[in-house]
Amino acid sequence: MINADRLMRIMYKELDFNLFALNKLDTENKSVAENGMKQFSMFDLKNDQFIKILKNKYLEVYPDNYNMDEVNIIIEEQKQNIQNKFGQTNTLFLFPFYAEKLFKFVNSHIRVDFNDILEWDGFINKVDGNIFIAAFLASNNINSNAYQPDEIISHTNNRLYKILDKGVAENHMHLKASGYTSDLNWVTLLGHKIFDTEALTKFVSNENNFGKLKTSGKKNEDIILYIQKIKLVRIYLMQFIDVYKSDNKYFLEEKKKEYTDYCISEKEMYRMLVVNTSVELEVFREKIQKVERIRRHNFRINTADIKQSYLIERKFLTELFTILLNNEFTRFFMYLFNFYLAGLNLIKFEFVQDNIGMGFGKFKEKESVKEGFLNNNLLIYESVFDKYYKEGNIKKIEIRIAPKSKKDLIKLIDTLNKTNEKYYRKYKAKNEAISKIEYGIIIHYIKNSDSLNNGDNISMWRNKKMRVSLDRESKKTSSFFSLSAASHLYKIKIIGIDAANVELRCRPEVFGPVFRKHRLESKKSNNLNFTYHVGEEFNTICNGLRAIDEVVEFLNFRRNDRLGHALALGMEIKTYFTKKRNFLTSTLQDYVDDIIWMYYLVASENSVDYHSNMLLYLAEEFEKYSKKLFCNTKLCFEFSMYDYMCAYQLRGDNPSEYKVSEVFECRKMMIYENIMKKPNKKYQLNSDNKKHQEAFMNKKAQKLYYLYHNNLLLRQQGQQTEIFEVQSYYIEAVELAQNLLQKKIYEKGISVEVNPSSNRKISSITKFIDLPAFGINRVGLKKESLKDLDYHIPVSINTDDSSIFQTNLNNEYSMLAAALFRYGFANEDVYQYIEYLRKSSLEQSFIREVPF
Ligand SMILES: [Zn+2]
Repeated sequence: MINADRLMRIMYKELDFNLFALNKLDTENKSVAENGMKQFSMFDLKNDQFIKILKNKYLEVYPDNYNMDEVNIIIEEQKQNIQNKFGQTNTLFLFPFYAEKLFKFVNSHIRVDFNDILEWDGFINKVDGNIFIAAFLASNNINSNAYQPDEIISHTNNRLYKILDKGVAENHMHLKASGYTSDLNWVTLLGHKIFDTEALTKFVSNENNFGKLKTSGKKNEDIILYIQKIKLVRIYLMQFIDVYKSDNKYFLEEKKKEYTDYCISEKEMYRMLVVNTSVELEVFREKIQKVERIRRHNFRINTADIKQSYLIERKFLTELFTILLNNEFTRFFMYLFNFYLAGLNLIKFEFVQDNIGMGFGKFKEKESVKEGFLNNNLLIYESVFDKYYKEGNIKKIEIRIAPKSKKDLIKLIDTLNKTNEKYYRKYKAKNEAISKIEYGIIIHYIKNSDSLNNGDNISMWRNKKMRVSLDRESKKTSSFFSLSAASHLYKIKIIGIDAANVELRCRPEVFGPVFRKHRLESKKSNNLNFTYHVGEEFNTICNGLRAIDEVVEFLNFRRNDRLGHALALGMEIKTYFTKKRNFLTSTLQDYVDDIIWMYYLVASENSVDYHSNMLLYLAEEFEKYSKKLFCNTKLCFEFSMYDYMCAYQLRGDNPSEYKVSEVFECRKMMIYENIMKKPNKKYQLNSDNKKHQEAFMNKKAQKLYYLYHNNLLLRQQGQQTEIFEVQSYYIEAVELAQNLLQKKIYEKGISVEVNPSSNRKISSITKFIDLPAFGINRVGLKKESLKDLDYHIPVSINTDDSSIFQTNLNNEYSMLAAALFRYGFANEDVYQYIEYLRKSSLEQSFIREVPF
């Protein structure tokens, strides 16, 4: 199966949609088949022209992996495969071919062989999984009305399921990106009227969507027209199925009137597809509206059967594959089927996450389209509970949502309670053993990048906009904590605070005051916990590590708190730099900060002598680049490395506390304590931090801190990006810093939320076995070639955005296990590790049955 997934990605997601452009009808006398001859033979592996296009695209997408000869072999092999099995060469037959290889029908369930689950994951990262499932149902003659396959296909390793059956907790998921959200979006898009393009235009013109098409020169209008055509083709294919299913003759004769009025003829369809602009499509408006009116109900999903979110499309595709496998297609039909599948993949992957060229930058953009076309949140909530109850072994879920007003939060809790109860009863009726899911809510603040261009001028400190909006948002949360005792049942539902989204130019320091404030507020109820998305997106690994440390230092993280992702903590440093060919790209400010951070982290250890050369190197780098950083600012005072370090330590403070020209005069300890006693200062200044007082008492440090925030020249200079060639001392220092940070996190009792699919895709790791998680915890997993870890940091396995990543919680554990088996760990060790992770997830959950 190697390479087949890549080839299918090229065919169904990467080819230019102009490949489908039909010639205008030559004469009315010629048939559709005669007119479209050239296009109709595309997607045929016998067609040399198509193969040429395919090969070039393949080498363009995977330039490092293959040469022309290898691609030839890959394509030829696929051709042989389908020719031998089906006597056909159209690429559509690859779907039933691989579906048959991947799936089995066991105990009336579709299952993927456990040995193949990583391959299956490879396919669905490139092409929508529903297509394979539909192809399998069709080739096994399984009636898609009577049989409803699960949304996420389970595997054949029963022992693994039995271990997980004892119960797991989901400690990291976002409400709006879980459940069946992506499918819901797709069906909602299909249900919108073709000429009602308002939502569509908004979706397409969003600068974060369809980036690749836009860079290849496609205009928004082109993309909108293309999507309109896909919707049209969908309707035509539905009609094709109806005609196919009914007795053909009867349909044509008895319903002739209806047919001509409410159906599109082959020629009409052809004419609609050759239009080049939306204006040309207008000619067909009346007809199209008539036809879609009688079919739109097909896209309606109601809360009585939320599974329709994904079943609608599967059923439709199953019927198409049935026609295909019965060899009752026309060439036009095959053309339209291919047209539709390519469109489906192209658009749907704008809702979901694939692992291709995926950096965090692209992903965070997806966060904003997650809601896409849906305006009925209840459908999302229902789908979330349906999906978790379906898994059967989920004990607790921590649901992440954006901040809400007290009123909205209460409303949401009521709705979630009701939905939870509904699905509990529904599944309890089927399975007596199922227990009610306990859920809690985590409020996550959304991080936004700072920019010197967005109005943050000299009179404003860094991240001013973000800080102001954060303050506003946090008041909503605070007001919730002040609810009267009578509202206890609501209050206990809020179990944690988090911050998510971009990390670049929005460092943890921004969140110091608000997190500390919430910690104070929650002291009474002692029910609130803290976590933070960090070390996931970074320009350099050192930068990611430092961000993790900043969460600990500036947000006062401690025992029972957790970190979200923290990829930098477990990544292999040498491999990282080899991949980067020993170069790093960093802003000047970040580079200097990274150097000072590493210097003091290393120096604070006892073994200073041992690392003296490394420290000397770091000190020289600091000297060189801090000069450069400050070169434009006419600073009239000298400062030392130590002063700079102290200034860095003050970053957990709120810059609004530092007044323009003065610094706090506090040479004496007494004065420091008096300042910190003032009511607001308790959280505006980071005085709980052990290093704060010493830093605060350093006048130069205060001045440097003030400049860091308020000096425009310094900020401009700090934003300059440079390429640095990395010396071996630097790499050693990062390695050591990572190790010391691991030790620190371990000793503090902080744990890490691991999200395997999400982590793999965002960090552009190609294999599960390379997940950073294995770099911080592999309790009981032994191998001769593998060095034992000094510290195993507690971790839990979670889904993050299960709809976007096409996964569920059990599937995440399963893929980890499969990767470990494949890597050669002993079977019994792997099962024990999974059991350990399962228990850990419950232990680390913020939800407790017994109130604190
Ligand atoms: Zn997340």
